This record gives sequence, structure tokens and C-alpha cells, in this order.
Amino acid sequence: MTRILVAEDETRIASFVEKGLRAAGFAVSVATDGETALTEAQNGQFDLMILDIGLPGIDGFGVLETLRGEGNPIAVILLTARDSAADTVRGLEGGANDYMSKPFRFDELLARVRLRLKDVQPDAAGSLQAHGLELDLKTRRISVDGAQYDLSAREFALAEEFVRHPGQVLSREQLLSRVWGFDFDPGSNVVEVYVRYLRGKIGAERIETVRGMGYRLR
Ligand code: CA
Repeated sequence: MTRILVAEDETRIASFVEKGLRAAGFAVSVATDGETALTEAQNGQFDLMILDIGLPGIDGFGVLETLRGEGNPIAVILLTARDSAADTVRGLEGGANDYMSKPFRFDELLARVRLRLKDVQPDAAGSLQAHGLELDLKTRRISVDGAQYDLSAREFALAEEFVRHPGQVLSREQLLSRVWGFDFDPGSNVVEVYVRYLRGKIGAERIETVRGMGYRLR
């Protein structure tokens, strides 16, 4: 059974998320402070964590930083305060897989949980695989149907986003925030430019343009 850790100190929110996830068939534990959330996440029994930023003790950023510093690959969806773009960017840069702004509708959170659980996670050797692509997270090299290519750091980060979310459409804005990670000029064409570089190396047909929406690995 898929196990989800909910780290949230507001009991009303924690309880409504817990009930909803249980009803959707997940096993759920709740942690109401940062230390407990960290310890529970470190024990490795969870597939995904819903992590509030404003936790007593260690805050959500601290929990995330410690986990990622230890190489813990647990999928993390951050709960951020409304209108806090800075928190969202900081969270995604810190290794969160996704975020929800409070207040949120439960069905929206559930949709994100299901999406994130479909994400490709690294195997024991630290490699990510999807659609004939294999990314070695240690050597930062990519293999395409067995042939190896060298990628720049940004190309690698972009390829990693595609391989982690095979078949999902990733918007320009998602790619900007996850790969470039800060307030990049939204009018910048850096995503288009790097998608072109990456296509040049791994084959144009592998990254599909979905008109008006973004790009998808296929
Ligand atoms: Ca809180």
C-alpha cells in the first residue's frame, strides 16, 4: 500500500487531508512538528510527504534541506501560504517535487499526489530511466538506447525533468521554475533554446511540442 506522510501542525487541515487520503486508499501518518516529520521521513517507509512550510521546530524548508542533503528521494509536495511566490520558488529549488498554495481544494491535492506517485524515481544505482533514456545522477551522463552523450549542467537538469515525468506535459513556466529555479524573465526564450539543444543531442522526436501547453517526453 502506498504510504503518505502528512506534516502539518494545523489539526483541521491535517485531519481533512488525512481523511481524504485514507478514503482514496492510501495509508497515512500525520506529524505535527518538524522534528517528527524529519524522523518519520528518514525511516524510509513513505512514498510521498505533504510538507507544510510553517511547522513548529524545524520548518518545512529545514526538513526538506536535511532530507535532500542526505540524498533522500521521497516525493515532496509543499504546502505554501497563498501569494508567496518566494516560498514556492525556494521550495522547488530546495528539491520539492510540487507545491499547493493554501487554501486548496482536496481534489486538487489528490490529483497532484497521484501525479507525483507516477513520477520515475532513481533506482538503487542512482539512475533514472524512461522511454529508452537513462540518466546517471552520479556521473551526470545520459544514455539514449545505449549510446552515451555529454550534457551541460542545464541540459542535464532539463533532461532530468522530462525523464522524471514521462508522458506528462511540462509547461514553460514549470520548466523555468524547476530548472532555472529563480525569477527568470518570463519573456525569456531560454526554455525553447535549451529544448532545442537537448533535441540536437538526444533526437528531436523524443521531445514533443504540445501546442499552447509545453513539452512532453515520448
Ligand atoms: Ca503550519
